[in-house]
Amino acid sequence: MYKIPDITFIGGGITGLLSARLFSEAGAKVTLIDQGLIGQESSWAGGGILLPLYPWRQAGAISELVSRSIGLYSSLSEDLLAKTGIDPEYCMSGLLMTELDDSTDAKQWCKKYNIPYQAATAEQIKLYPQAKHNALWLPTIAQARNPRLLKSLKQDLIQRGVNIIENCKIEHATIKASRITEISSDLQRFPVQQLVISSGAWSANLWQQLLKNHLIKPDIFPVKGQMIILDTPANTLKEMILEKDHYLIPRKDGKVLCGSSVEQVGFDKSVSEAEKNNLANFAQKLCPSILTNAPIIHHWAGLRPGTQSGIPYIDKHPDIQNLAINAGHFRNGFAMGPAAAQLLYDLITHQKTDLDSSLYALDATH
Ligand SMILES: Cc1cc2nc3c(=O)[nH]c(=O)nc-3n(C[C@H](O)[C@H](O)[C@H](O)COP(=O)(O)OP(=O)(O)OC[C@H]3O[C@@H](n4cnc5c(N)ncnc54)[C@H](O)[C@@H]3O)c2cc1C
Repeated sequence: MYKIPDITFIGGGITGLLSARLFSEAGAKVTLIDQGLIGQESSWAGGGILLPLYPWRQAGAISELVSRSIGLYSSLSEDLLAKTGIDPEYCMSGLLMTELDDSTDAKQWCKKYNIPYQAATAEQIKLYPQAKHNALWLPTIAQARNPRLLKSLKQDLIQRGVNIIENCKIEHATIKASRITEISSDLQRFPVQQLVISSGAWSANLWQQLLKNHLIKPDIFPVKGQMIILDTPANTLKEMILEKDHYLIPRKDGKVLCGSSVEQVGFDKSVSEAEKNNLANFAQKLCPSILTNAPIIHHWAGLRPGTQSGIPYIDKHPDIQNLAINAGHFRNGFAMGPAAAQLLYDLITHQKTDLDSSLYALDATH
């Protein structure tokens, strides 16, 4: 009978956490290693919108993962709250997209993936006059509050007995007879049966470092995103709003996130005054009556795991038998997360999948 192998993940962001959870649920012995604390990198820094920005303008492979993930979040969130007492604040706040000049494509996409849509409501047009023409209101699009979702996932894994190792940077691998037998940091060694690289923006560098001369390698690079959060009373802003390249995300307690920049500057997480002002101006211009005097309470940056097309790498190494990857989710690690984890699980455990897994393969165009 097939036995699920003991499995080790390098990287404890949303990708590693969701993947580790599936294997743990199936009875595998799971180890999750992070060079810092769990869930403090890109996954912490993101907005948690559970839909790509303008998904119909992006590769179909992204929509396939997103459409499957959308249906999984509500029960995941309820389950995590029940098991851990930590509320991931999953919330169907809806998404209003203004100033669309390709709304016909948008509606076709919504129809294909069964996403309800309508024109902006009278109340929305009163608040945002630019929503009068060519806006689309998607009332069922949801969000999760990143830090809370990550915290509840981590707690859930601890309760399941997953071995979580923090502040441990993996730098070496021992490869014997086309298998990785051991990985190590400068201080610790870990024997491995099955290894998964889920190291976000660091995945390509780590891959090179561990495998050295292997020809196949993922093309993943860091893409900085800066974000601010404004303080307003609860229920001041109800829906998420997307206009051109920027968006607002209202949290349950009234805080409003405004994002985000897209900067290719390497592994640099510094923030700039210029981008802070840019984001604040966008927020105030979009919602002058609500956000003009709202204080900015935090400003930060995270490193998205970028790929050229935004399609992640979810695959097993063709030569090294016990190595797999789930990384490169770029701007949509939350929106694609549950289905990406499921695909990884199906590939490693030789299950059938209804996805075309070749789209996410190491040798596919990303
Ligand atoms: C500003 C911003 C806004 C965003 N908004 C959204 C959104 O609204 N919706 C959405 O779906 N996505 C959004 N994203 C994208 C999303 O956050 C990412 O796609 C997702 O977080 C990637 O998750 P990950 O687990 O792959 O990477 P990460 O969260 O970066 O996790 C990788 C982990 O690997 C660890 N690691 C790396 N190297 C090593 C090593 N050698 N040894 C041990 N550990 C290692 C790191 O410490 C890190 O914790 C946004 C991102 C940003 C920055």
